[in-house]
Amino acid sequence: MGEAMQRVPVLIVGGGPVGLALAAELGWQGVRCILIEQGDGVVKTPKMNEVNTRSMEFCRRWGIAEQVLETPFPLAWPKDVVFMTTLSGYELGRVKRPPRQIRASEHSPEYTQTCSQHWFDPILQRFARSFSHVTLRYGCRFESFEETESGIVATVIDAASGASETIAAQYLIGCDGAGSAVRRASGIGLTGRGLLGHAVNMFFRVPGLLEICGKEPGTFFVPVDRGGVWANLRIIDPANALWRLMVNETGSNTTVENVDKTAYLRRALGRELAVEWVDLNLWRRQSVLAESYGDRRVFLAGDAAHQVSPTGALGMNTGLGDAVDLGWKLASLLQGWGGPQLLASYDRERRPVGARAVGSATQFHALQSGWGDGLEALDEASAAGDALRLRIGDILVNQVGREFRTMGLQLGYRYEDSPICIPDGTPPLPDDPETYRPSARPGGRAPHAWLSEGRSMIDFFGRGFTLLCFGSANDGKSFQSAAAARHMPLDIVHIDDRAIRNAYEGKLVLVRPDGHVAWRSDAPPRGVGALLDRVTGF
Ligand SMILES: Cc1cc2nc3c(=O)[nH]c(=O)nc-3n(C[C@H](O)[C@H](O)[C@H](O)COP(=O)(O)OP(=O)(O)OC[C@H]3O[C@@H](n4cnc5c(N)ncnc54)[C@H](O)[C@@H]3O)c2cc1C
Repeated sequence: MGEAMQRVPVLIVGGGPVGLALAAELGWQGVRCILIEQGDGVVKTPKMNEVNTRSMEFCRRWGIAEQVLETPFPLAWPKDVVFMTTLSGYELGRVKRPPRQIRASEHSPEYTQTCSQHWFDPILQRFARSFSHVTLRYGCRFESFEETESGIVATVIDAASGASETIAAQYLIGCDGAGSAVRRASGIGLTGRGLLGHAVNMFFRVPGLLEICGKEPGTFFVPVDRGGVWANLRIIDPANALWRLMVNETGSNTTVENVDKTAYLRRALGRELAVEWVDLNLWRRQSVLAESYGDRRVFLAGDAAHQVSPTGALGMNTGLGDAVDLGWKLASLLQGWGGPQLLASYDRERRPVGARAVGSATQFHALQSGWGDGLEALDEASAAGDALRLRIGDILVNQVGREFRTMGLQLGYRYEDSPICIPDGTPPLPDDPETYRPSARPGGRAPHAWLSEGRSMIDFFGRGFTLLCFGSANDGKSFQSAAAARHMPLDIVHIDDRAIRNAYEGKLVLVRPDGHVAWRSDAPPRGVGALLDRVTGF
């Protein structure tokens, strides 16, 4: 007799940052889940380095934002982006970005953090593991699944023994990255431009590089020469002198063995320098979106659902939004207060956000092209060289630099066609990638405002729904009993602050667990029960 089949409400495939974030969200919401990951979970060198403002808000919601701040990247180190001819050559322009110690931004109690994946993934891992009902299983590969009446049965292989086993789950979530086996097994295709190019990341260690090359500190250095914008240098870990040189396009014939690391490094540094090579990864720059984010029992999140050029840092950050959206919906269904329409709203809400990320990242990438002509004097010590550098520097900061000014993209996405958000008839605000405009219009992220030292409006939003009452204390009463009758977790919060009330533009604002506005009005609705049914997917 074989061992009894494991049964679990949610099976997550893939232990990258998005799978870990989903396991964390489910754990935090009290849902039992198993995450299987084919690798050992150790991140040797990072892909992802920037945890954006919205992702930091999710970390704040989970209570782990402090841990991100405690990672070893120095708090006072400027995050500036520097355009230059070479690291030893002329500085052309600088996009100023505050250091990590500036914790809050204008529109959020958090701010984008430099926290590379070899630090960030372990934080998510530890947090997910802190819940006894979450199991992270490494060295376990997903092979296939079959749908049953009550869920799915997945076949998985244990890497160490080679043994095959089955796991039954009510829901299967593919967080298994670009090549997603769950996506392929579900027959879901990809749409979009496809392959944009072949790139390489080369990691090296060299102490005192900025001093040797005579550059003021920054985090991201973009060499521009007669070949245009061709690469970037990022300081990954200043204390350990770890750097990454990324070459944007290497051609399809490049292999790990034939990459000329020394030549690329010489071109970026503008000098010969002996370094300790640490790691090298070839990767493909993609611009694609899944045709569907799944339905019924099987869903996709993260790179399994959208693959973007890293320009704009929208890959993992968009994936974390998927995890939080899907996580609270699964939790409410499994806890019995969510209805059948909830999971259908996942695709309707998140796929347009994925499309927006794919489109923006592709545009940012395109802004790096076409810089090769007329740059002959860029490195010349002459008046013509000075004039060209001034002109080009300005254009680089304003155009290529756009990928570093994305507060609108980070905070301004909204769920326009969501079946579980109730429009209030107000028109949408312009969707400007650079500038975020706070708005409590249904579908959007409920805006931040400080209530007191260290306490933000967004700190109210969490495991259940929150009704914000800016008017009479009686206004929320009918919600209390209707929510209780549905076993729907609802906090009612009275806010006596004219400025915040004006910003929210409604006496009553109903906010979902993910911090998005579901409904707002100046008066209680005629049928509170029908309203609550709609926003919880019944
Ligand atoms: C150079 C570079 C820089 C980047 N910088 C940023 C940045 O600053 N900010 C940002 O937001 N994004 C960035 N990204 C994008 C980011 O790295 C990805 O979007 C992110 O890693 C996606 O996370 P994921 O968990 O969806 O997928 P992945 O990280 O790809 O993880 C998927 C996991 O699934 C596992 N898996 C696959 N198949 C199976 C199977 N059959 N069974 C079990 N396990 C399986 C894999 O082993 C893997 O661990 C960058 C990407 C690159 C290439």
